[in-house]
Amino acid sequence: MDDIKLYSPKVMKDVLDSYGFKFSKSLGQNFLIDGNIINKIVDTAEIDDNSGVIEIGPGFGTLTQCLCKRGKRVIAIEIDKSLIDVHKNTIPYDNIKIIYEDFMKIDVNKLIKEELEGMDVKIVANLPYYITTPIIMKILEDKYKISKIVVMVQKEVAQRLNAKPNTKEYSSISLAVQYRADTKIAMIVPNTVFMPRPKVDSAVIELNILEKPRIEVLDEKMLFSVIRGSFGQRRKTILNSISSNLNYPKDILKIVLEKANINPGIRGEALSLEEFGRISDEMTKQSLEIIN
Ligand code: SAM
Repeated sequence: MDDIKLYSPKVMKDVLDSYGFKFSKSLGQNFLIDGNIINKIVDTAEIDDNSGVIEIGPGFGTLTQCLCKRGKRVIAIEIDKSLIDVHKNTIPYDNIKIIYEDFMKIDVNKLIKEELEGMDVKIVANLPYYITTPIIMKILEDKYKISKIVVMVQKEVAQRLNAKPNTKEYSSISLAVQYRADTKIAMIVPNTVFMPRPKVDSAVIELNILEKPRIEVLDEKMLFSVIRGSFGQRRKTILNSISSNLNYPKDILKIVLEKANINPGIRGEALSLEEFGRISDEMTKQSLEIIN
């Protein structure tokens, strides 16, 4: 089994037949059938014998095989319990633990402490597309001790995560991710390398976690609330969108923007993370003044 080429469509069809497995569209089950792409993902993640890997959604285990061979230890989290029997044959390694649970319910900090202590921890996955953004936000917000995230996502999502100001892809998630990580699109992947084929193309994105957030702010919650409030309606000026989305008095907001040195007529999509940081800090100071 060790050298079984799970990514070969023929082997995959055999596994499907022998276990009577049916792909679940609602669980985003589009499995990889290209060995080069799998190697490229593992190369991008720089998996070596000091790596502790968390894989979300191993599916049949195509990517998992390569992670087990190259990494020190792998913890895979799979929601679909009908894969338990398949895994007994397809992932026969002694450096893996598979947890059959929804990733969104996992206490990853505890998992890292208990299972991957002392290793260079990385998260690697071909993510289920229906839940990509919540998974990435959970990873970033819960502040795990990890160095890298390498994930396959829908191409448009990768472009949003990697987007810079003044582009149509730039959105609140670009800022949320770039607050904590350097981003890089490692490759664009055609839909032909999946079984079954999704309608859209994909991309592998690399998120290199920064030692500390890219900017320092007085109140992180305020920063994200300002960012979300600024992208609610893209055509509106920063003055109008923050005041209406956050229900913030316009006269006070004008003072805040002036102190932050931000033109009130500008749109959110033109502002950098640093500029959002300045607005957020002035709003925090303003709320402290009101309390005192
Ligand atoms: N890694 C495999 C591959 O590349 O061939 C499968 C990738 S497939 C796109 C996504 C996998 O995530 C499926 O196995 C699916 O069952 C699993 N999955 C879906 N939702 C999940 C969740 N909330 N938590 C953990 N796994 C999930």
